[in-house]
Amino acid sequence: MQIPFLDLKAQYRQIEAEVMPMVVDAMQNGQFIGGPQVESFEKEFAEFCGADCCVGVNSGTDALRFVFLAAGIGGGAEIVTVPNTFIATTEAVSQAGATPVFVDIDPLTCNMDPNKLEDYLKKSFKPQASSLKPRVKAVLPVHLYGQTAAMEPILEIARKFDLAVVEDACQAHGASYKGKKAGTFGIAGCFSFYPGKNLGAFGEGGAVVTRDRNLADKIRMIRDHGQSRKYFHDMEGYNGRLDSIQAGVLRIKLKRLREWNEARRAHAKYYDKLLSKIPGITLTTEAPEAVSVYHLYVIQAEDRDGLQKFLSAKGISTGLHYPMPLHLQKAYAHMGLAGGSFPVAEKVAGRLLSLPMYPELTNEQIEYVVDAIREFVEKA
Ligand SMILES: *Cc1c(COP(=O)(O)O)cnc(C)c1O
Repeated sequence: MQIPFLDLKAQYRQIEAEVMPMVVDAMQNGQFIGGPQVESFEKEFAEFCGADCCVGVNSGTDALRFVFLAAGIGGGAEIVTVPNTFIATTEAVSQAGATPVFVDIDPLTCNMDPNKLEDYLKKSFKPQASSLKPRVKAVLPVHLYGQTAAMEPILEIARKFDLAVVEDACQAHGASYKGKKAGTFGIAGCFSFYPGKNLGAFGEGGAVVTRDRNLADKIRMIRDHGQSRKYFHDMEGYNGRLDSIQAGVLRIKLKRLREWNEARRAHAKYYDKLLSKIPGITLTTEAPEAVSVYHLYVIQAEDRDGLQKFLSAKGISTGLHYPMPLHLQKAYAHMGLAGGSFPVAEKVAGRLLSLPMYPELTNEQIEYVVDAIREFVEKA
């Protein structure tokens, strides 16, 4: 049996009849940038998240970068995040003029460990800490694999140290924590609509949600060359808009997102049930306060590389999210952070394996994957 890691074609077949006329309509009307599709999507996505405002942008990376620029969390500031994320998280920080710093993760959820955050801030804000050191201005938790970070303790710590919280919700469209949706906890939540995300465009796309109207207005300017009116520029901005056709695709998919997320959750629960009986396989814990939307279904195994090869030979595609923590990447060699700096993230990186996960997956396919894992474990 061939089981892809992700099946975008299966999803397209479900919406083709709605997508095609929308695309033709956009082409016949010559409406490609901005316009009613973008405005309607922004309204609908804000409503979906339970946020007041939504600004569509060109990518999740732009969403993050524009929030820092608009909120004035740039030059000279430190922003605290985690090392086990996609590099876009920290690229956005650096490109806004700030410096990313890391704290380690919780081994069960693989999200930011609030205790490690507090430890870092206590050290950083000690009176004798060097005044030359950049000041911590924000916390950037990443809702990894579709599960929100521990937002209650993180918000409480941030309040204590007077820090802004910005959420990297690029993997967590529709996830919630104590009944509140991802993206609505801090000053802003940043989403990616990269094709493989739970809500994916047919190209690049992203959005910021916020309850702060001023922040939203600033981001609207930044995404459009700093203009509030055509050819009148209050500042320099970026070319970072959401296309009309992408917004049209996202509107069609958004109507089905709850149902698709439910399907992912059902698959995850089935994987959990079957895999929990296999010794040596560690599952990612869903915290009792959180409802994950399982962008990825990630397990851990001692001989991860051997398991991945074995599954591949059985026709099962898997992924690694992510094989090397950011502090060990060549791009961040200048940080001078040796192996051992973040032991939990480092240990997990060597053991993690993402199994096939998409709404259209069947129980039969899940059973085939789990049987193959059992066979590998029993042989070892
Ligand atoms: C996908 C992703 C991003 C970046 O989104 P793009 O739309 O590709 O720019 C940022 N952070 C995380 C955690 C992501 O998964």
